[in-house]
Amino acid sequence: MNEKYLEIRNITKVFQTPEGGEVRALDDVSLDIASGEFFILLGPSGCGKTTLLRSIAGLEYPDSGEIVLQGERIDDKPPYERPVNTVFQSYALFPHMTVSANIAFGLEMENVDKDEVTTRVTEALAQVRLEGYENRMPSQLSGGQQQRVALARALAKKPKVLLLDEPLSALDLKLRRGMQVELKRLQRETGITFVFVTHDQEEAMSMGDRIAVFSEGKIVQLDTPVEVYRRPVNAYVADFIGETNLIKGTVVAGGISLPGGNILPTDQLAEDSVIPASGDVTVAIRPEDLVLATNGMIGGTVKDVIFTGDSVRVHVAVGDVE
Ligand code: ADP
Ligand code: MG
Repeated sequence: MNEKYLEIRNITKVFQTPEGGEVRALDDVSLDIASGEFFILLGPSGCGKTTLLRSIAGLEYPDSGEIVLQGERIDDKPPYERPVNTVFQSYALFPHMTVSANIAFGLEMENVDKDEVTTRVTEALAQVRLEGYENRMPSQLSGGQQQRVALARALAKKPKVLLLDEPLSALDLKLRRGMQVELKRLQRETGITFVFVTHDQEEAMSMGDRIAVFSEGKIVQLDTPVEVYRRPVNAYVADFIGETNLIKGTVVAGGISLPGGNILPTDQLAEDSVIPASGDVTVAIRPEDLVLATNGMIGGTVKDVIFTGDSVRVHVAVGDVE
């Protein structure tokens, strides 16, 4: 496996806003993506994910930095000379063309041999499990099926990197979960390097080999899903990934002083916690790491109990924090 298959080196992109201001969409972003990796760009709306994806595709040109694929710079090339393909949230199928014609179109544009086009269309339809839909028009397909056609169209071109910009966000939750499993399978089977953008942390956790967590044009943390969840580098990541209790406290002898006169002993903290000698800190506690007890370590008052089906959420007020 080539660890530096796709290299993003010090990419900066500043947009001028119509109001005369500036937005630093990408601020000196660097990362390496391995061959065959399912790589996730995660962050809230407006943090620069799409700008990075469009820069890789050649739909946007960064102000500075380099994009290197298999050791070769591609950032100065036009989009059609880059061996990458993009799947967008909107499927952007040609409405007047059949499923087959939609998939074949890009290949015909590249003058791919006729028999080869037929072979690749058949193969791509099988990959997305749409055999038998060759002659349907896009309007005769569900949203999920249209998204599969869009995927098949991208896969048929056999890209070195497949870029996916929130491709599932228009689907309802159940369909989205199903497609997440399908996409994982497709990526494994084809071995194509996927760069997948999402603002949905659960989607990122369940699909990614690695996740780059973005905030305001910068990478805050780049790690495996387990590492990002267990060892968030700061409160922003802890809060963004999964659910967490962020409680402000103060370092005291033997532990952390929390609201309501509670002391959290040092031996209860994660082994690699960074504890300053004194001063204010934020303690992040995952709900599943807490056990309710009538005579527990941290005193609090139960405010609410909410049954959600697979779990029960208990809201506890600790001191003046709820
Ligand atoms: P994301 O995909 O993470 O939601 P984007 O990459 O689309 O974020 O946008 C990052 C920032 O750059 C946002 O503040 C957005 O408003 C701004 N931006 C994106 N494209 C343009 C543009 N063409 N002109 C001006 N500002 C833009
Ligand atoms: Mg976006």
